[in-house]
Amino acid sequence: MGSSQLHVALLASPGMGHLIPVLVLGDHLATHHNVKVTVLAITTSAETQFIKSHQKSNSNSPIDIVPVPAVNVSGLIDEKTKVVTQLRITVREALPSVRSSVAAMDRRPDALFVDLFCTQALSIIAEELGIPRYAYYPSTAWTAALFMYFQVFDKIIEGEFVDRLEPLRIPGCVPVQPEDFSDTLLDRTDPEYREIVNLGIELTQFDGLLINTWEELEPNTVKALRENEELRGIVKVPIYPIGPLKRSVESKNEGEGRSEILKWLDKQPVESVLYVSFGSGGLLTAEQTAELAWGLEKSQQRFIWVVRHPCDYAPVNYLSSKLDTGNDADDPDYLPEGFLSRTRDVGFVVQMWANQVEILTHPSVGGFLSHCGWNSTLESLTNKVPMVAWPLFAEQKMNAAMLTNEVGVAIRPAVAPTVKVVRREEIERMVRTLLQHNEGKGIRERVKKVKASGDIALSKGGSSYNSMCELLKDIHIRMHTWKSQSISLSQIN
Ligand code: UDP
Repeated sequence: MGSSQLHVALLASPGMGHLIPVLVLGDHLATHHNVKVTVLAITTSAETQFIKSHQKSNSNSPIDIVPVPAVNVSGLIDEKTKVVTQLRITVREALPSVRSSVAAMDRRPDALFVDLFCTQALSIIAEELGIPRYAYYPSTAWTAALFMYFQVFDKIIEGEFVDRLEPLRIPGCVPVQPEDFSDTLLDRTDPEYREIVNLGIELTQFDGLLINTWEELEPNTVKALRENEELRGIVKVPIYPIGPLKRSVESKNEGEGRSEILKWLDKQPVESVLYVSFGSGGLLTAEQTAELAWGLEKSQQRFIWVVRHPCDYAPVNYLSSKLDTGNDADDPDYLPEGFLSRTRDVGFVVQMWANQVEILTHPSVGGFLSHCGWNSTLESLTNKVPMVAWPLFAEQKMNAAMLTNEVGVAIRPAVAPTVKVVRREEIERMVRTLLQHNEGKGIRERVKKVKASGDIALSKGGSSYNSMCELLKDIHIRMHTWKSQSISLSQIN
């Protein structure tokens, strides 16, 4: 396409769960829309290792990845600082290096895309460069609507949200039960509360908001975000649903190179295995870890479980260098005594990290017990795998509510895992329902329809394909307007 080929820079915040969606978006833009892409990845040591192996196994990748090492922010945070605040501080401190990395690029980008935790880069970098700026929201339209509309709730509602019995109304959207908010929004005295309200406001100030959903999955919410006057009065930003974008299998799966997990899966019957994982940083308490082990064992179903050392004070750790790398040297001695030997014939336990996409793509997998992070959810749905929804933090409770109540592709425990320990009997019941019973069959049928609608949305002429084309057209228009403005200004001068 010669000189009219667009060049976009994508800025990713630290954490695998943040870097992966940005890389996927970059690959999609380059492969399907002929865009030159540079990903600026703010990295801690875990992502640096991932980037190296990603580059090695994707030597033909059409995107350039520029690691921007995160500055040590330990002097600015303490053990009480929560994850969003940590991320935003880390990004803020990295901005000078981001700026230098942009300056060092051979070709100036035509647009800057930033992920959710890099929205502060909006005023600083994109404005300096005078280029259009877009935010990438790698989750649902419903949670995006809540984030952006939250400023209204913040102004008009007094007291703690958790004390409200009524659901909260976002114009044109399914109302949200306050208990499904992320925990931070349930405590207005938490310093992180303000960070999140600000983040929602920042999202409305971009030239466009890309959302990793598709119109057919969330028709009413997408319509409301585009057309509902009351909602538009706050949201303002143009909406581009461009999903479902997700990672494809990277490993060479055949012959000698076939991983132990895949070899194990090859021996299991079709749709018989439950995959259990809580994302890139999700952690369970010691008590919950033991109950989950007992529940899996009592269900007598086959499973793969990515286990992590329990943590009794936080449900997530994104920034640890130990996570994401798979190198937890200790034996999983926190599992009930004898669990590993008793389940040896039906279970496969992996410590810390597994290649999730290759697992979910395997035909033997019949269910996913997941924390409902949106990447995991899309990887599950697009492989026709129904879910047990086990949300832990952030927007996951809303994802779980949507997957269960609206889309009908998941079941969930009666009591939220964030509130009470889910007992072994309930875990046993859910696992059997998903893998054995008729209820599970209905869910399986629905998940197949959802997968098909996602495929259509992404194909040429589909809703997400068209939405991405409109976005790229918008960049072209803004570039030309900007260029002609600078030409006329230079003529005046
Ligand atoms: N992931 C993986 N192996 C693991 C855990 C996670 O490959 O053991 C990948 C998973 O496939 C997904 C991402 O990490 O692409 C997790 O993103 P998600 O949005 O589900 O959750 P988050 O990590 O942001 O909480």
